[in-house]
Amino acid sequence: MEFDESHYRTGYLVERGFVRRRCRVCGKHFWTLDPDRDTCNEAPCVPYDFIGRPPTSRSYSLDGMRDAFIGFFEERGHAPIAPYPVVPRWRRDLFLVSASIVDFQPHVTSGLMEPPANPLVVSQPCIRLVDVDKVGLTLGRHMTVFEMGGAHAFNFPGREVYWKDRTVELCSEFLERLGVKEEDVVYKEGVWSGGGNAGPCFEVNVGGLEVATLVFMSYRVTDGELEELPVRTVDTGYGIERFTWLSNGTPTAFEVVYADVIPKASELLGRYEVDREFLMRYGRYSAWIQPGGEVTVSEARRRAAELAGVSLEDVLEDLQALERFYASLDYSKSIAFILSEGVVPSNTKVGYLARLLIRRLYRTLAYLNAQDRVLDLLDLQLRHWGRRFRQLLEAREDVLELVDYEVRRFAETLEKGTQQLERMLRELKARGGAVTTETMIKLYDERGLPPDLVREVAGRLGVKVEAPENVQEIVAAMHLTESQRQEQQDPREGRARALIKGLPATERLYYQDQYRTEFEARVLAAADGMVVLDATCFYPEGGGQVADTGTIYHSRGECKVVDVQSYDGVIVHFVDGLLPSPGEVVRGSVDRERRLSIMRHHTATHILIGTVRRVLGRHAWQMGARKEERRARLDVSHHKPLTPEDVARIERVANEVVAKRLPVEVRWYDRHEAERLFGFTLYQGGEAPAGQVRVVNIQGWDAEACGGTHCANTSEVGFIKVIGTEKIADGVVRIEFAAGPAALEYVQSKISELEERAERSEKAEREISTFAEKLFRSMEAEDPTDPARHLEYVRAHYSAAARYWFSFRKYQKDEEVEGVRVIFDFTRSRNELLIDEMLQQVSTLQFPAVVLLIRSVDDRLEFRASLNRQALNLGLSPAELAQRMSGWRGDVRVEASERGLKGEVRGTKVGELYSAFTDAIRSLRRR
Ligand SMILES: [Zn+2]
Ligand SMILES: [Zn+2]
Repeated sequence: MEFDESHYRTGYLVERGFVRRRCRVCGKHFWTLDPDRDTCNEAPCVPYDFIGRPPTSRSYSLDGMRDAFIGFFEERGHAPIAPYPVVPRWRRDLFLVSASIVDFQPHVTSGLMEPPANPLVVSQPCIRLVDVDKVGLTLGRHMTVFEMGGAHAFNFPGREVYWKDRTVELCSEFLERLGVKEEDVVYKEGVWSGGGNAGPCFEVNVGGLEVATLVFMSYRVTDGELEELPVRTVDTGYGIERFTWLSNGTPTAFEVVYADVIPKASELLGRYEVDREFLMRYGRYSAWIQPGGEVTVSEARRRAAELAGVSLEDVLEDLQALERFYASLDYSKSIAFILSEGVVPSNTKVGYLARLLIRRLYRTLAYLNAQDRVLDLLDLQLRHWGRRFRQLLEAREDVLELVDYEVRRFAETLEKGTQQLERMLRELKARGGAVTTETMIKLYDERGLPPDLVREVAGRLGVKVEAPENVQEIVAAMHLTESQRQEQQDPREGRARALIKGLPATERLYYQDQYRTEFEARVLAAADGMVVLDATCFYPEGGGQVADTGTIYHSRGECKVVDVQSYDGVIVHFVDGLLPSPGEVVRGSVDRERRLSIMRHHTATHILIGTVRRVLGRHAWQMGARKEERRARLDVSHHKPLTPEDVARIERVANEVVAKRLPVEVRWYDRHEAERLFGFTLYQGGEAPAGQVRVVNIQGWDAEACGGTHCANTSEVGFIKVIGTEKIADGVVRIEFAAGPAALEYVQSKISELEERAERSEKAEREISTFAEKLFRSMEAEDPTDPARHLEYVRAHYSAAARYWFSFRKYQKDEEVEGVRVIFDFTRSRNELLIDEMLQQVSTLQFPAVVLLIRSVDDRLEFRASLNRQALNLGLSPAELAQRMSGWRGDVRVEASERGLKGEVRGTKVGELYSAFTDAIRSLRRR
């Protein structure tokens, strides 16, 4: 994509006497006051010449520069707004805020919504992990966390704020305010595109450094074609850290951005210094040092030193240590920002990126022999930046615990993984192979071994590495955006959409009165088992709340409503029975008790969200939820399985909220107003639609954007009982619970089940002891030399042992996985007869169950599993289980039989094998 000169020829630049030239190095066009200038004034086309000679009239601290920026634009009519979080929960396609414009995408920039102010100014913390490998090497040009000063104007049709001329003028005046001379400023032409939008832009270069970008977002890109947007957005980004650096003229940006952090960080990590004279000269060329480019980092260093006229030899080690020290400051600040917003390190989404950064920090500190200082460094950053960004201070303890847990696990991974890695690399070397980018990504994703470690070990063992030096950036880039899920389309949807064509949106009576279950309405369409009315009390499935059921009475009889769905605001009732005629007025009746029970479960879910945030910590965000008639479930982000104490506290606190009789207020708010009043925890349930937000507010406890039906007061929810908890993914736990009469029913059935079990085990105990007694007596009496009889005795003996093992729950673990009880033990027995008997015990259970036995033999794990009839009846097939297990890792050998499976695997832990097995069951049950 390219824009011609007319897009850049702005009246302001022309009037001031700027001329268009072309850079002899990069070939890009730029605008300058100096007709003889032949470079674009951006490193690496030129060296930095602000180092040692700052072009501003004075130097600024980071705080000072931020204030100067905001103040300047405020004086010129821009309303300052508070920064948004760095985790954009209002968007589904993106995990981290990488620019200030993200705050206003997609609804404001597409014209669906008004901005909070217009024009506005914000200093927005941003995270960019695509630069993670460059941090430190470029001495401050790249940081994973920085503040983008955004001055934005949104030009709606007929309501022009300002466009190119004024944008450039404002930038020019700001530079003048800082004391930068106009002839030192170059406006380089560029093209900006992102998120399906595009437009021409100017990169503003001073002293070799790009300090701002002025984007004129004016097009939508569809199949490579440009189409004008109804709203033209001025999207300017001023690099607050870069401006600060520019004004100080220091060889590195870190020393000014982290000026207040460095003295204490040096006490923690050690003091790192490089000869100042060297740094002043070498720093001018630091933009050259970028991993993943055409030359290696060491070659780039050599060239930079040559250009700077300095020798690397004596300082290289000091320089590398200083770069790592700086990088560790940047990574730890990034982590502090991300985790303080309720992110739990995991294998998916933003949790994946948080984990990547924590591991990267740990490894970076390891090179400085300071890996045991991760928590201290984080604490320092949380306290320092928390003075301006309060959420960091408020989440401090929570963040430290999460990081502590994560770092311990990573240290274990490294300890175990390094030996395996050495073995693997030796084999690779013997085969004459090389480490590729794919190998590195695989080692990172599957074993947690970071690219820098792989490179280090490969170097030590003399294994060839054929991968660029920025593999971590490649990995990060692969995980920055949500991969578009293939959403399974409901086969009924096509029919429904054909039926509702041209029909108006249905009036939602359930929003007018959430308790109303009887109503009259006119039939707009009825065919093919579907009924559309002009108004309805039937709640369509949505936001995790199941659809209502009930009856529609009409002139020809009645039909049962079995499901309700909404398609673009038109509500379709799926029915069994006689259809009404279009045009007639019918009476609808929602199953009242069922609806009230669902409402209790929905309100209970909100009570629990507020509860887990207080009991488990602020990182506990809703990851999913489902509210049904008899029970509900809530998935929350949390790093470890819940303990019985956690569960007891959650139950206690939740029931206290019930007892407090808090009103549950439902109101529609303007979106910005709602965000201002309740904060971004509003979006627990995911992104919200544009415009007005329906907020369900349990006063003083929890407020959320939610479309569901709710009780008017928490007291109506009644008793809340947690039924079970389960770790369903790395960093996610599921809480299953029941509320009101459904909870009572659960408790009653549980008590009788326990009584029954107690009775059974007493009986079993008596039985076994008599059995064993008999056995021994008969063995004494009979002739043990008869081999057939002997085998029978032995078998009977093992059978008794297996029953004892099973009846008294002598096994390691017993948990429910998607409705299937998994009974697991790690056995040391080599006795096949005993193992057979143990596996057979599964058939004594009256509910779907699997017995899984794992034993370790030499350097491998053997496993056997057997399923009972009830489990097989659920559709769990041993063959499919075996298939999933072999899909888990390439080296699993597994075979299925009629009732179970048998297999072995090397190089894994018992816990991992167990998780893979339960995952296999889970995925079969969920398909
Ligand atoms: Zn250039
Ligand atoms: Zn809700």
